[in-house]
Amino acid sequence: MRVVIKVGTSTLAHATGKLNIKRTGELCKTLSDLKNAGHEVILVSSGAIGMGVGKLGLQTKPTDIPTKQAAAAVGQCELMYAYDKLFAEYNHTVAQILLTGADFTAEDRHQNFNNTITRLLQLGALPVINENDTIATEEIKVGDNDTLSALVAVSVKADLLIILSDVNGLYSADPRKNANATLIHAVHGIDENTLRLAGDAGSALGTGGMKTKLSSAKLCNANGVDMVIANGENPDILYAIVNAEQGEYTRFFA
Ligand code: GLU
Repeated sequence: MRVVIKVGTSTLAHATGKLNIKRTGELCKTLSDLKNAGHEVILVSSGAIGMGVGKLGLQTKPTDIPTKQAAAAVGQCELMYAYDKLFAEYNHTVAQILLTGADFTAEDRHQNFNNTITRLLQLGALPVINENDTIATEEIKVGDNDTLSALVAVSVKADLLIILSDVNGLYSADPRKNANATLIHAVHGIDENTLRLAGDAGSALGTGGMKTKLSSAKLCNANGVDMVIANGENPDILYAIVNAEQGEYTRFFA
């Protein structure tokens, strides 16, 4: 199976912006195991800005573009350093790919991306993708990694996109406000009612929310790709998802 996994800043970093070593370690171990089992794994990872905030010792997430881009430049190195080290423990080789919106709209650039990632997968490498935050300006950026991961999943004709977040999935109501909210395990077709269930989630360091996740699910499903939202708290859940076993997550069927 060809699987794209998107991991958010809330999974990878503590609220301080420093790497969550335990969580990231478990994630890399599980992804390595999935690769060992024969799956093709592509990781879309956020965390550049968040980790840059931690590394530079900034008090809060910056709001101005130059500081955000500077933080991303610092944090992206930190991120790849961590992935390189953690995946190397299991004999896997990472490859960094940084993209912007223009790489999906310009045909030649899109083709180059597809050629490179196909070759990387043939070579057994594990592509780690993020937006090229240091150069992406408002006009050309994708904007959030939920959308970026859906664009990647569709481009590479993945079987499945798994978005790891700080929620278990899509609920019948906002679980932080309503104690009776129940997790929806399967969604067959996203309609107006589904879209109404999206609050405006999002952590202090991350970007996306349930809205961007639902539009990603729509994009994936319309192009024949299933999508899952699951909690990144315990990366073990990836086994259940990939093996289509029951679990605490939401699957959007194409
Ligand atoms: N590209 C951003 C980063 O790595 C994250 C975007 C997002 O969280 O959606 O910091």
